[in-house]
Amino acid sequence: MPTHTITLRNGIEMPTLGQGTWFMGESFFEKKNEIAALQHGIDIGLTLIDTAEMYGNGGAEKVVGEAIAGRRDKIFLVSKVLPNHASLRGTVRAFEDSLKRLKTDYLDMYLLHWRGGYSLEETFEALEKLRQEGKIRSWGVSNFDTDDMQEAEEYDPDGNCCINQVLYNLGSRGIEWALIPWQKKRNIPVMAYSPLYQTRLLRSSGLVRIAQELSITPAQLALSWLLHQGTVPIPKSSNAQRIEENRKAWDIELSQEVLRELDRVFPPPTHKMPLDIL
Ligand code: NAP
Repeated sequence: MPTHTITLRNGIEMPTLGQGTWFMGESFFEKKNEIAALQHGIDIGLTLIDTAEMYGNGGAEKVVGEAIAGRRDKIFLVSKVLPNHASLRGTVRAFEDSLKRLKTDYLDMYLLHWRGGYSLEETFEALEKLRQEGKIRSWGVSNFDTDDMQEAEEYDPDGNCCINQVLYNLGSRGIEWALIPWQKKRNIPVMAYSPLYQTRLLRSSGLVRIAQELSITPAQLALSWLLHQGTVPIPKSSNAQRIEENRKAWDIELSQEVLRELDRVFPPPTHKMPLDIL
């Protein structure tokens, strides 16, 4: 059975299944429902919450702030700085703004959302400063391909970069060729975003057939497969029933035979492919 937590290279424990928040905080009329959905997820053990200053222009962080009020200590909270804010001073400013919206005084993980104009050296200096001041427990990157990770390593000699959040799901397996092996060697887990390919994957006849044979849903199969790869999927749902469905992926054991069948339907890469991005 896939483990419910992993230990990051800095010794911090992190849940292996979380809740995404992209597209939350965009509509006043959806806010109540989104808060309730996240809280339901927390109640059933989905305490890792992934958000970003970008989502809903800060609106998603506000939704998360309300959802975690009174239960911050149970939450593993991840947010991200936009690349155009990721200078030495800009990162700290963006971070403080995120904290205000999230109504908290620390983050468990802070990520550079994707590479932009500022040097990694400068951004990492800011992230390290926040970590050393105890304002973030760990930091990492997002949308980094293997060459980006190699460059990142040059500016992170002590190995403080703890995670790379990238697009990964059964329909997009390119990172298995080079990026995942590179990260595995260094104990840097992949946090898998768009694990359902924003529902695109759920319409795959092969996935639907195998899920039916196992008496589970296509979403559960997609998430369970990611957990079996040792990655950390963060599906987004604003629906309590679908959140419960996704949570059950934690309790599913896939046999070698099923994993082989999934490889037949969704073949792994046979050569280096560029990183898929949404
Ligand atoms: P996703 O999680 O693959 O898919 C989300 C969609 O799936 C929503 O429309 C949701 O609708 C639906 N859904 C969820 N559970 C379902 C289920 N059991 N059955 C059927 N439909 C289901 O896509 P995502 O939101 O792009 O990715 C997840 C999270 O990753 C994001 O929310 C964000 O936190 C993060 N992310 C990061 C980056 C990055 O650049 N770092 C990029 C993209 C995403 P309902 O809400 O109606 O259930």
